[in-house]
Amino acid sequence: MSEYAYLVVGAGLFGATFAHEAKAAGKSVLVIDKRPNIAGNVYTEDVEGIHVHRYGAHIFHTNDKEVWDYVNRFAVFNRFTNSPVANYHGELYSLPFNMYTFNKMWGVVTPQEAAAKIEEQKKDYIAKKQQDRGLSADVPFEPKNLEEQAISLIGTDIYEKLIKGYTEKQWGRPCTELPAFIIRRLPVRLTFDNNYFNALYQGIPVGGYTRMVERMLEGIEVRLNEDYLKDREHWNQIAEKVVFTGPIDAFYDYSHGTLEYRSVRFETELLDTPNFQGNAAVNYTDRETPWTRIIEHKWFEFGKDSDGNDLPKTVISREYSSEWKPGDEPYYPVNDEKNENLYKRYRTLADREDRVLFGGRLGEYRYYDMDKVIASSLQFSRKVLAE
Ligand code: FAD
Repeated sequence: MSEYAYLVVGAGLFGATFAHEAKAAGKSVLVIDKRPNIAGNVYTEDVEGIHVHRYGAHIFHTNDKEVWDYVNRFAVFNRFTNSPVANYHGELYSLPFNMYTFNKMWGVVTPQEAAAKIEEQKKDYIAKKQQDRGLSADVPFEPKNLEEQAISLIGTDIYEKLIKGYTEKQWGRPCTELPAFIIRRLPVRLTFDNNYFNALYQGIPVGGYTRMVERMLEGIEVRLNEDYLKDREHWNQIAEKVVFTGPIDAFYDYSHGTLEYRSVRFETELLDTPNFQGNAAVNYTDRETPWTRIIEHKWFEFGKDSDGNDLPKTVISREYSSEWKPGDEPYYPVNDEKNENLYKRYRTLADREDRVLFGGRLGEYRYYDMDKVIASSLQFSRKVLAE
């Protein structure tokens, strides 16, 4: 007889949701994580009363009422609304592109003026490109790279100041060498709405994400600094089934090869000033500034500590987009054909396992927003726990 019904490998959102549901269904559960903390990539640590998002800024947003109700059982969410600012060589613009952006860019005041300006720039650009290609203006324009795609959607000024530099830093390549499909659509709002997400529900858990995950794991045994892969035999004996939320390729000792990721490097500093940039996120959209964004963590909670007092210091993180090397923290899966095919080979092996189940962003090699990973884990729990 095994000691536990389930061993959950990984105390991130997928693992914590499953563990919570398994416990609620009366199953015995043990959660382990190789990190010294719970919460996986949504981990927030307390620095001078500020909840620092150690693995990148996390803003909860969803249209899924079930998931929203679910997370609200474990945390009170504040009214934070993501409204990033773009800094282009010291010129500040509102994001996503909206009437504030257009007014600052061109001095236009009405939506009609803004739309006409965008239309005029798109038209001139497309006409010139078609002429260079020896095509008449009424032949549909086919963008050949990201630059052509972006300008044909939004015009030259917005592209040059707000898209080009940022995208090139993110991908480490010129926009003319990036495929057009990366930008299928660009949000253009002819309103004064600078709420980044089109979501019904949005906010940050008061007290940080770690506290929220702590509540999800209440009453469940958790062991930290334990790497499943270092002693599988021991862990496999301890439980009847294993829910593995780590990297699927690592589970199979990279036997078919390594799945690739895009990485981000964070440079975090505690500053002895109450206000560094006046906003949670400022994107640096010029090519010369080496970082892509600066996050000032205290503004996710309006600059206050948990008792509502103003915080005298601040913590900022500069984000640098970087190439990922095996051994680095995996962030964004590279969902190109090569990696997708490799993932399928691992998936075939995973489907043959009878005691190990895979889930989460690393177990399924896909980008999941927080709400989606919780929804996926809830669905997974219903299926697995009913068996
Ligand atoms: P993880 O949180 O990665 O948890 C997996 C856990 O497994 C980790 O704790 C790891 O240590 C552990 N583990 C792995 N291998 C082993 C092993 N061998 N033994 C023991 N433990 C192991 N989503 C949003 O909705 N809004 C946002 O603003 C947002 N911002 C993001 C910013 C960045 C930079 C990134 C990369 C993602 C962002 N996300 C955001 C997505 C969010 O981070 C994920 O949805 C979520 O973290 C996925 O949870 P998970 O449990 O699948 O994975």
